[in-house]
Amino acid sequence: MQAFIHPTLTKLFDGIKNFQQRAYEQDPANMKGLVEDGQHPKVLLIACSDSRVDPAILTNAEPGDLFVLRNVANLVPTYDVASKYDGARAAIEYAVRDLEVEHIVILGHARCGGINALLKSLSGQKIERDFIGDWVSLAMDGCVHYAIDQIVRSDSNLEESVGEVDIDNLREHQHLVERAAIRGSLDNLLTYPWIKRRVDDGILNLHGWWFDLENGDLWATDADNTVFLPVIE
Ligand SMILES: [Zn+2]
Repeated sequence: MQAFIHPTLTKLFDGIKNFQQRAYEQDPANMKGLVEDGQHPKVLLIACSDSRVDPAILTNAEPGDLFVLRNVANLVPTYDVASKYDGARAAIEYAVRDLEVEHIVILGHARCGGINALLKSLSGQKIERDFIGDWVSLAMDGCVHYAIDQIVRSDSNLEESVGEVDIDNLREHQHLVERAAIRGSLDNLLTYPWIKRRVDDGILNLHGWWFDLENGDLWATDADNTVFLPVIE
């Protein structure tokens, strides 16, 4: 008997062999420490499931650096103790209450299919999927609250009334909707009482990041999480 690796997965298998050499043979003390002492990541990173924006690859992270939650469109549901079988809330709770991370980063990105699905649904197109429509609707509040406001302010041709911004405006500004969804998720994090308490006590910091898939630029929120700015070095 021999383990079967499908030919399509050979590249991934080679990657694991490479990791074994790098992590276990070249630096065994580091992995030994992570195994025996456990993990102590300082960062919970909430990212999209999109294959192009793997947070560990983007950040060049090492084992133990990041506690990662990934889902469609990097969304955070609001605090709801009645919700069962919820991987997102469970991961957030474990990171904050047990691992006691010091930072939560929500990492969104350009050309996000989840946000595109939200925009389609807003424009009246039915999403022919069992779960995706309801899931991306989590971003609705952030989208309405922040994206429309930004679009009005950035386009002087528009009336200063949210009623004047239609769905076509939003679709032309998907990057603003993606960033608005991140801000909405940051707001949702504060509905968790044990997150709010830690933020108020200054022992937990929340951050919004947006990765521009087209040119590799990273944008990040200011200290108040109210506006996205390019990160320039
Ligand atoms: Zn995405």
